[in-house]
Amino acid sequence: MEALQDAGMICFFTGAGISTESGIPDFRSPGGIWSQYRIIEFSEFVASEEARLEDWDRRFHMSDVFEESAPNHAHYLISDLIADGTASGVITQNIDGLHERSGVPSGKVVNFHGSGAYAHCLNCERQYSILNCKDIIDKTGRSPVCDCGGLIKAAVVSFGETIPEDFLHRAISLVDSANTLIAIGSSLQVWPAAGLLERAVHNGAQLFVINNTATPFDKDAGLVLRAKVAELTENAYELLKVRRQSGPSPK
Ligand code: NAD
Repeated sequence: MEALQDAGMICFFTGAGISTESGIPDFRSPGGIWSQYRIIEFSEFVASEEARLEDWDRRFHMSDVFEESAPNHAHYLISDLIADGTASGVITQNIDGLHERSGVPSGKVVNFHGSGAYAHCLNCERQYSILNCKDIIDKTGRSPVCDCGGLIKAAVVSFGETIPEDFLHRAISLVDSANTLIAIGSSLQVWPAAGLLERAVHNGAQLFVINNTATPFDKDAGLVLRAKVAELTENAYELLKVRRQSGPSPK
């Protein structure tokens, strides 16, 4: 824990593993989303009505799961550390909105892979509610189309879809201002998100990895905690008390 006292400005990077204890399955663990669903690439969504309906079907299912879930200790700890200035923000690959629901202001969260909370037109970017899209599909049996003629899609970044520039710039700015990047609950196998860790290491920042299985970045990390996030965060509250008394050191 001396490591945390010397962490300087922290930036968090989170993945699906931080939300499994909130009841949301991750991708790669046994019973995870890959065991239930196949990947629908962005190009397939655009090309095929059948793929769009399949994609919507899983969005509606996940939207129900997100609604029934709640932030856990780990989300609240991150929220707390951002509120007291110990951390500058959180970059998340998750689309479940749990960081915002734990109290992190939206300006301090980068939803690197978008959000499952709403949909948008791929052409004019007009926003739609997921419920609205469900109504259209229930009534017409067809995937929703915007007034401008563009396809409407959940506002998540699919495989093969470009990360919006704004997300990329905000994430890079958080990484570049961090002395320590703490990756929590991610297999760190999805790119370009994992490139942010590479950038942090290249910048000379410390890297801490908290995950219950091995990741490709463990070798670069000053600290690897192979633990369940919720159990660990309970202890972390105690350990971080020391650090809070002295405050974060500016970069
Ligand atoms: P991933 O499934 O590839 O990796 C999750 C990692 O977390 C795994 O290595 C797993 O062993 C670990 N893990 C699971 N539960 C844990 C726990 N309680 N404590 C510690 N470690 C735990 O997910 P990823 O790295 O985030 O990348 C894949 C993509 O998954 C992302 O793009 C994201 O958009 C998407 N996704 C998001 C959600 C969500 O929003 N909650 C859910 C599933 C998938």
